[in-house]
Amino acid sequence: MSGRDDSRVEAQEGAAAGKDGMHVIGMDVGGTNIKAGIISPDGAIIGLAQAATPVNQGKEAILACMEEVVGQLRNDYRGGIGALGIGSAGRIDRQTGTVLYATDNLPGWMGTPLKSVMEARLSLPVFVDNDVNAAALGEGWLGAGRDARHYVLLTLGTGVGGALVHDGKLIAGPRGGAGEIGHMILHPGGKACNCGQSGCLEQYASGTALNRSAKLVDSGWDSRELMRQLELGHEQSRVVISRFVSDLATGLVSLQNLYDPELIIIGGGIMDTHRLWWRDLLARLGSCTEQALSVRPAVLGNEAGLLGAARLALDEWNAGWS
Ligand SMILES: [Zn+2]
Repeated sequence: MSGRDDSRVEAQEGAAAGKDGMHVIGMDVGGTNIKAGIISPDGAIIGLAQAATPVNQGKEAILACMEEVVGQLRNDYRGGIGALGIGSAGRIDRQTGTVLYATDNLPGWMGTPLKSVMEARLSLPVFVDNDVNAAALGEGWLGAGRDARHYVLLTLGTGVGGALVHDGKLIAGPRGGAGEIGHMILHPGGKACNCGQSGCLEQYASGTALNRSAKLVDSGWDSRELMRQLELGHEQSRVVISRFVSDLATGLVSLQNLYDPELIIIGGGIMDTHRLWWRDLLARLGSCTEQALSVRPAVLGNEAGLLGAARLALDEWNAGWS
């Protein structure tokens, strides 16, 4: 319990320090890990903590784990913390900080009033957004989008995530559902998607989709092996990756036509191998649109989400301060 008393003291210290000198905690909550860091107002990472998400133990255990990770950071840092920003998997109501929708990757998460629950537990102002939106804020603040005001982030991981930033601000949509780029229909009547539609981009450009394609070439392969074979000059692998690049390019051109962003940033696990197919993607983009389309790999990796969550906390807390 003493930890909670300390929290209150530190919250007051944070407030006393004012918005200019305030440090915040940024947290990224995913189905595998909960990662958090103490972040200075200029984006320096002062401390990091992480724990495996206890998905098998349900919602309460996940909330307790989040509290524990924050406690760990506070134990190692005696300065004031002004606010906590959380980027969470799922669709989030930013106003109330409630999880509107989440998959079973985070069991029981749907309906959780994350903001009020964590504010009560930590005695800190808490601000919540979707994890991909947070990553987009992170990349715009300190990463690939530093020089852009209008950009799109596309993450190619287990699924395909997206976030839209217009004039430096996230476009959330009235129900928190904007930027679901992964469920843009690419091939009408195509592969069935878990969203209920068919032919979504996610079914062609995600890590899961590439794993599936790899298994069709050789039942023992995954996407990593597919990439390794591509590097060795394996013809069938080249054909599969070429199809992936073509589908991705089609999605990117649609995004460009819809939003006319200065920049499209691409992140996620598939980008680990981008050097093997990036040049092909640029060539494909060059041949299928007359518009100047600027694409760039994300640069913050796993820390984009927690840095962006910290940015969210700084922005929201500062807005409330004035
Ligand atoms: Zn879908």
